[in-house]
Amino acid sequence: MVRKTQHPETLALHAGWRADPVTGSVVPPIHQTTSYQFESSQQAADRFALKDVGMIYSRLTNPTVDVFEQRMAALEGGAASVAVASGQAAATVAVQTLAEAGDNIVSGTDLYGGTWNLFAHTLKNMGIEVRFVDPADPSAFEAASDERTRAWYLETLPNPKLIVPPMAAIAKAGRTLGIPLIVDNTAAPLLARPLEQGAAITVYSATKYIGGHGTSIGGLIIDGGQFDWAQTPSRHPLLTQPDPSYHGAVWTEAARPLGPVAYALRARAVLLRDGGAALSPFNAFQLIQGVETLPLRMPRHCENALKVAQFLKSRSDVARVIYPALQEGETRQRAEVVLKGGFGGLVGFELPGGRDAGQRFIDALELFYHVANIGDARSLAIHPASTTHAQLSEAEQKAAGVSPGYVRLSIGLEHPEDILADLAQALDRAVG
Ligand code: PLP
Repeated sequence: MVRKTQHPETLALHAGWRADPVTGSVVPPIHQTTSYQFESSQQAADRFALKDVGMIYSRLTNPTVDVFEQRMAALEGGAASVAVASGQAAATVAVQTLAEAGDNIVSGTDLYGGTWNLFAHTLKNMGIEVRFVDPADPSAFEAASDERTRAWYLETLPNPKLIVPPMAAIAKAGRTLGIPLIVDNTAAPLLARPLEQGAAITVYSATKYIGGHGTSIGGLIIDGGQFDWAQTPSRHPLLTQPDPSYHGAVWTEAARPLGPVAYALRARAVLLRDGGAALSPFNAFQLIQGVETLPLRMPRHCENALKVAQFLKSRSDVARVIYPALQEGETRQRAEVVLKGGFGGLVGFELPGGRDAGQRFIDALELFYHVANIGDARSLAIHPASTTHAQLSEAEQKAAGVSPGYVRLSIGLEHPEDILADLAQALDRAVG
């Protein structure tokens, strides 16, 4: 008998798909099509009027993408999800579904650099102001908000600092004001469950752990389905007022026959329609293959990363190791509350020899790949001061948690002894 509430290992393999009703194909096929034959003009009209949720055009929906969306919504415990072309597109759509010119959002400062640029520059140029606050301080989010604040934004495990924010307290404070919390959970899928902490929306770069094999760029927005937009309608006019771009549809009402999915519906029907950042069916197929083993991979990433953190801590030639399991006090407690079953696959450390030592270390690695990515099955390394954060001044780098000798590692699934051996030989050559 099939259980109603299944475990992540099971959902990752089964949610959103059984076998193809026509061919019996067990693996979801790649539906490489732009469009879908309507059976009648009535059916076509119903689809455009959202009375029939069938496919219209692959910028909006696609059967392969749909499997990925359903599977991820089930894994996350959300009501619906919208897959998009990249993690960056996910952040953009996540905000624009709630905010337009003249509105603002409040975000924690500790963000992926691409999200920082999007928030500080591109959204600002579009008239959406992003107010940055200390992600450790719920009262700072409240203090920065006003009647035009449409959302709060956080990352679960932002690198390089790897400090987990007090997610539940921030989500709760936002809910009292009618403000939803959006959480980028890219670095901690399955480990952290932002919707259970009170977040309304999760976003992912599926490019990282979800895909898991470094093959495909993709992104995802998951609507938790537990935020009552209509309770504070003036806070969310884009969901609760007639939308002139869609025959005056009111998204909270249009979604009613489908469930509590007003946010996901507007994200798809308006932002995918107009912005067009659709995920390709081929990438969705690749990402589905990744999801199937995500519950097995995440614990192994964490186990290997913990061994790396302990190894680096034991080395006298390493000045500091950044990993949640090594944190103390309130920061550590927050990590324990939010991250279950491991502290993630990212490890940072500082070499006392500064920039030169950092670059020498990277050049000495043999097993690790030197790439600007995280969350691959392979171990990856980068020296942020000379690459990802090179455009920042030294003071800005310091504020971001990047010292000249800082090295970021994304620990993969190789045997831990081989990972440690590569780190040891690279340290010996770079510092010794
Ligand atoms: N969010 C986080 C936490 C990331 O690390 C990244 C990419 O590194 C992104 C978003 C952007 O994702 P993508 O590269 O898929 O656009």
